[in-house]
Amino acid sequence: KSAFNGRDLRKIYVTGETEVQALRGVDLDIAVGEVLVLLGPSGSGKSTLLNIIGGLDRATSGTLWYRDTELTALDDADLTRFRRANIGFIFQFYNLIPSLTARENVQLVTDIAADPMPAEEALERVGLAARMDHFPAQLSGGEQQRVAVARAIAKRPGVLLCDEPTGALDSGTGVRVLETLARANTELGTTLILITHNAGIAAMADRVFHFLDGRIASIVVNETRIAAA
Ligand code: ADP
Ligand code: ADP
Repeated sequence: KSAFNGRDLRKIYVTGETEVQALRGVDLDIAVGEVLVLLGPSGSGKSTLLNIIGGLDRATSGTLWYRDTELTALDDADLTRFRRANIGFIFQFYNLIPSLTARENVQLVTDIAADPMPAEEALERVGLAARMDHFPAQLSGGEQQRVAVARAIAKRPGVLLCDEPTGALDSGTGVRVLETLARANTELGTTLILITHNAGIAAMADRVFHFLDGRIASIVVNETRIAAA
């Protein structure tokens, strides 16, 4: 079953007199529950695609479906509704509110989501049960990122989009963040799409899309993981 299906997605950024072709015809089919890594040089279009998939930006042309909904046909209000209901984001920097505890940062989301898990459960799932009442400044970088993961999974999104989730962390700390993402995938069935330069993450993916110059130049399938599923 498809989570996302995209055909001939193109994105042109226009700044003054200059045009940048960020996506030059991307076709994709991403399965529900898949772990997908986007790899490729800086400027090859990975973030542009992630933002379009997450409804933060729009393709210039092409079609994109999420399950039974054509995202490219939605107006802005419906696209925002789609994003809030279905997508969780993890960025390189955690974007926690410094004056709120870990629990309160997660509650910001659980207070408005349709079917959230309790903030406490989300924090337990990322191994922070003992740190719920700490403020961000009292947590390590890896712990702050795990709060960000808890905040993202608390609304039970079908999809988690991660842009360099371990980019600001040392490798040992990064591994713990990855474990929390992998658990969301196996225990909650969350589809994971990650931009990363981290080889360890690429190894845990079902597939790796290699981007080059606005296109998916090649796709590497991880047979080991498919066989294990
Ligand atoms: P990657 O994530 O692989 O580094 P991006 O998707 O960020 O690549 O960028 C693809 C291309 O689009 C680059 O040439 C980049 O400079 C350009 N680009 C990205 N965002 C914008 C924007 N908001 N305005 C203009 N150009 C942009
Ligand atoms: P909303 O606040 O509209 O409900 P979400 O909670 O679904 O949005 O998360 C998407 C948010 O991520 C957007 O509000 C957007 O401003 C923010 N965002 C987008 N790109 C980045 C980035 N690179 N770093 C941090 N935040 C970002």
